[in-house]
Amino acid sequence: MTAQLIDGNALSRQTREQVSQRVAALKAKGITPGLAVVLVGDNPASQVYVRNKVKACEDTGMHSVLEKYDATMTEADLLARVEALNNDPTIHGILVQLPLPTHMDAQKVIETISPAKDVDGFHVASAGALMVGQPGFWPCTPYGCMKMLESIGYNLRGKHAVVIGRSNIVGKPMALMLLQQNATVTICHSATPDLKAMTLQADVIVAAVGKRNVLTADMVKPGAVVLDVGMNRNDEGKLCGDVDFAGVKEVASYITPVPGGVGPMTITMLMVNTLEAAERLVA
Ligand code: NAP
Repeated sequence: MTAQLIDGNALSRQTREQVSQRVAALKAKGITPGLAVVLVGDNPASQVYVRNKVKACEDTGMHSVLEKYDATMTEADLLARVEALNNDPTIHGILVQLPLPTHMDAQKVIETISPAKDVDGFHVASAGALMVGQPGFWPCTPYGCMKMLESIGYNLRGKHAVVIGRSNIVGKPMALMLLQQNATVTICHSATPDLKAMTLQADVIVAAVGKRNVLTADMVKPGAVVLDVGMNRNDEGKLCGDVDFAGVKEVASYITPVPGGVGPMTITMLMVNTLEAAERLVA
């Protein structure tokens, strides 16, 4: 079997087109959705991410503000900036780019963002809402994965999903979203003794580890759907995922590539969350 690709670029374009239309409808009612992106320090990867997020806002007709601060900024000053953005009526979503400099408590900063503007979905109120099935902002990466499954018409009811990784921003929320769609979910992590024994049972595998070749063809049940969240560099310095793509695509029914898979969908879901934060004002 050669798996079909789930094309994150194509799905992103399609979803952003729908976002643009909803943005235009909201603007006609006098509201322009606005996203504030706050970057502290000069981490090169973070600089690329924030540029892409601001560009996505421009492309979909949203207002955006990029606030850049020196790595020496104090935590108190950052908290004050977040408070000011909480009170800014032109801003509907606030994103503080992680990682923050080590002298700052990232969780404290995130908890200062108003839950109504927490479009990254990292606030404990957002995590709690997902946990109990209440409306709230879903973290963009697992939310994008759910949209990718939806795009192939995949019905999770009764299926076994294995999530590799248990971070607060990917693995855990991913597992909760799959559970909400009636999958039976197994979460694996670095202390899982026999990962292969788990993944071989899976109808859906989400790899969110950050290590190349964590998932190889011999670990995948024929016909499984494989979503690759990982972002790593191969020996040639090229971007690659956690999955041995060449091998696994011969066994899986569907697979996401890296690049061009989950990555673009993450930013797209940030646009969706920001739009929805603004739409709630007129709901
Ligand atoms: P993280 O916080 O480092 O979490 C990694 C998880 O993988 C941990 O739960 C860890 O287990 C687990 N793990 C490590 N080695 C393992 C192994 N050998 N077998 C099974 N599990 C193992 O990373 P993250 O923030 O969730 O991100 C994961 C990957 O996704 C990274 O490559 C990141 O760059 C990428 N990412 C991509 C996007 C995107 O937009 N495409 C967005 C976010 C993240 P323990 O908990 O036991 O340590």
